[in-house]
Amino acid sequence: MTKKVLILGAGAAGSVVANKLAREFRREIAQDRVEITMLDRSEVFVNQGGFTFIPFGLYTPEDIIRPRRELISPRVKGVFGTEGEIKSVDLANREVKTKTDRSYSYDYLVIATGCVADVEGVPGLASDLNTFYVSLEYSFKLRTLVQGLKKGRVVISVARMPIPCPGAPGKFAILLDSYLRYFRGEEVRKNVDITFLWPMEPIGPAAYDDAASQVFKEQGIKVRRSFKLAEVDSANKEVIAESGEKEKYDLLITIPPHRSIQALQDSGLTDSTGWVPADKNTLQYSGSAGRYDEVYVLGDTGPVEVVKTGIGAHYQSLVVSQNLANDLHGNGIKESYMGELGCPFIGSIYTPATRGKAYIPTWTYNSPPDPFTATKLGWFLYRMYYYIFWDAGIKGLM
Ligand SMILES: Cc1cc2nc3c(=O)[nH]c(=O)nc-3n(C[C@H](O)[C@H](O)[C@H](O)COP(=O)(O)OP(=O)(O)OC[C@H]3O[C@@H](n4cnc5c(N)ncnc54)[C@H](O)[C@@H]3O)c2cc1C
Repeated sequence: MTKKVLILGAGAAGSVVANKLAREFRREIAQDRVEITMLDRSEVFVNQGGFTFIPFGLYTPEDIIRPRRELISPRVKGVFGTEGEIKSVDLANREVKTKTDRSYSYDYLVIATGCVADVEGVPGLASDLNTFYVSLEYSFKLRTLVQGLKKGRVVISVARMPIPCPGAPGKFAILLDSYLRYFRGEEVRKNVDITFLWPMEPIGPAAYDDAASQVFKEQGIKVRRSFKLAEVDSANKEVIAESGEKEKYDLLITIPPHRSIQALQDSGLTDSTGWVPADKNTLQYSGSAGRYDEVYVLGDTGPVEVVKTGIGAHYQSLVVSQNLANDLHGNGIKESYMGELGCPFIGSIYTPATRGKAYIPTWTYNSPPDPFTATKLGWFLYRMYYYIFWDAGIKGLM
């Protein structure tokens, strides 16, 4: 009998699982003993990590977009585009339906459908949405606004947690400062006030908070912490926090709240937080819909308490693909995800005047990152990571 693995979502997490399994089970696939099917609503992979850099011209669409067919092993039955759009997931009957009303059954299911911005989650936000978090188009729109900046108050507001890559908003603020200061000139930078609104007290774990706070202070980026965005009043050009505090702006850049995709919510798979619950070590589904050991949940769609980054999603996909291989071999071995993740930090952009500084701090559930210093080598490694991503990362070779 053919064992069927069905993977929902061909993003940073799902692609690695598909490619690793396709390699491990190449013989079984050729003999029809294992079948790997993958559904995704889009035919192209857009590396969202690049969105942060688009407004500053540091990456182009050619750098961050690839056709999925080039990334996924031909041994995987990939259904990409309209035919691959998931409508519902029925765990009790092991059935996934697409919008085009095709049904897929499975022995093992991988849920890796990422998350979406919930712009409507903040009243008024839709009427003044400038962001690098939603799409490439929005990042380009922001690029035009950033390039036209001459003076005024720029407010960067992170509505609430969790969001994918919680480090990206701070990186954006630092890149904006560097861009204005070194590309547009000190005079322009002096006339632009940058304020960073953050919904919690610390900006990440202590070492991350220390590094970000220091750069913000040195570069004159104002920070207001515990500012949970409740409303955008675009007529008066001000943002209002849950506490009632207000902040005026000339240009508002917002990181909207995020949630898991509608199809999973409609299928009753999410918990009260709006995310898909799973055991944080085995990543197997365990929630209101029951406990399903044959269902793995990973990446941005996963439990609210698991930090959402592409590097974390990568580590999770290594554990999930190994455990799926163990399940298929029937050897009873289980590997644990221990919360391994990385969240890149930027200290300054690379310019003729500054050599660029960055670092990729890593941590786990039980061990926070050590204190670190952003370095020039870190800057080059982080920039390179976007290219290694296609040939080694997504292919599951590292
Ligand atoms: C602005 C920004 C900057 C970031 N910077 C970094 C960084 O520097 N470093 C880092 O590690 N991480 C970064 N991240 C986070 C990283 O991009 C995510 O954590 C990672 O992509 C999560 O992988 P995933 O597979 O869970 O989701 P995704 O990569 O989003 O993949 C989900 C897939 O599911 C598909 N899908 C969704 N709904 C459906 C449906 N109904 N039917 C079929 N398919 C569907 C989508 O098309 C998509 O291909 C950043 C994110 C953003 C937004």
